[in-house]
Amino acid sequence: MRSAKYKTEPLKCWQKAKEIRENYYKNYAKAHEKGGIRWAGGAWSFDAIPAGLGDDVYPITSEPYGASVAWNKEFALECQEAVERAGYARDLCSYMRNYWGSVMLNKYVFGGEFPTPDFIWQDHICCSHAKWYQVVKDIEKKEIPFFCIDVSVGPYEQINEHKLNYVVMQMHDGIEWLEKIARRKYDDEKLIQAVYNHCRSTSLWAEVCALNKMIPAPLDEKTMYSLYVLGTLQKSSKVVADFYQELRDEVKDRVERGIAAVGNERCRVMTDTQPPWAFLKIFRYLEKYGCVSVGSLYTFGLIGMWDVQEDGTWGPRRTPQENGIEIKTRDQALRTLADWELKKPEWQHFYYPHLKSEMMIRIAKEWKLNGIMLHYNRGCEGLSLGIAENRIALIKAGFPVMSFEGNMGDEREFDETRTIARIDAFMETLGFERLE
Ligand code: SF4
Repeated sequence: MRSAKYKTEPLKCWQKAKEIRENYYKNYAKAHEKGGIRWAGGAWSFDAIPAGLGDDVYPITSEPYGASVAWNKEFALECQEAVERAGYARDLCSYMRNYWGSVMLNKYVFGGEFPTPDFIWQDHICCSHAKWYQVVKDIEKKEIPFFCIDVSVGPYEQINEHKLNYVVMQMHDGIEWLEKIARRKYDDEKLIQAVYNHCRSTSLWAEVCALNKMIPAPLDEKTMYSLYVLGTLQKSSKVVADFYQELRDEVKDRVERGIAAVGNERCRVMTDTQPPWAFLKIFRYLEKYGCVSVGSLYTFGLIGMWDVQEDGTWGPRRTPQENGIEIKTRDQALRTLADWELKKPEWQHFYYPHLKSEMMIRIAKEWKLNGIMLHYNRGCEGLSLGIAENRIALIKAGFPVMSFEGNMGDEREFDETRTIARIDAFMETLGFERLE
């Protein structure tokens, strides 16, 4: 075995990330024991808004929960079969099926019974979003109060005052609804602090991802999955915003000291959309070729908020605080939040594939990639939309592309042997041999 070209070392804040995630799921399950409230919603719900109900309000976001189920292969299969027995189609969102199955079986993947939420707080851009919880209510056979905000107002480049108002007015209605169903007085100051945290978390995560432009990359995609997830859980919490600040400082330090994620880095790729969660070992397989996956539009843009910087490259979006803006009212907080979120990279390509292609080509250039691995993910119709057009655009832009079929949450649709064979062929095309 050759000696490594670059130094590597574990992330110091790794354990802390694990603890935050563990506490999050524990807090949700035990909310009632503490006299608190628990709610369920998507990873893109405006979680800063229920934060105005108090500090004892605990969420569970559905997609990361579905991914946690997927990681537990045996339980995932149990969930999927329960959903199929109930007559739901196998080609629906696999996170959603994993989540439904867990509710149907009344088993929480972290132990015990599935904790029913007191209310559902969702938003809607993918066709599965609102339906997800309509079915949860049916399965629970309980009248769980449900509020859903429609955010599908078109891409950010076409945003105008009417579109923004459409979202903001729904948020105002949502707060009145929350006060009524929770029977609590809403605290605007808590909302304002949560909006600040939200902007801080998402901007810092983009900064962390931007540091991966460096050679060697300080982080690899498999590691990034365990870090970005905190933003999908509760980006408006101070705990998450503070953690991302600590992480940003540590990753900066790794860059300064030349610490690599993959000691023999000589080939850089990115992926696309969610990975097959039960088979993350394919990222370790890439390392045999000295190949690092530096992330993806999904890892960067599901949570990270970006802006074109003065030099024309992609970097973190400046937060309201960094722009010297002080949020003073509920309306200003909601307007800031809506404007901030509507620019989310992963929301843009729900409308046109070319918007995704442009962002992917930008990443391929700025992160200095040798090639791209596209996951034709049958489990997510939302983020796989237009993926074949993206492939053509990337090839036209001069980047070699490998595609593989799979499913982020349903291992029955992933062929490990064939995918490994495709990776071998792709590496050969790129001119790399195994190092060991
Ligand atoms: S975007 Fe994908 S993961 Fe999210 S709800 Fe839609 S299909 Fe499911």
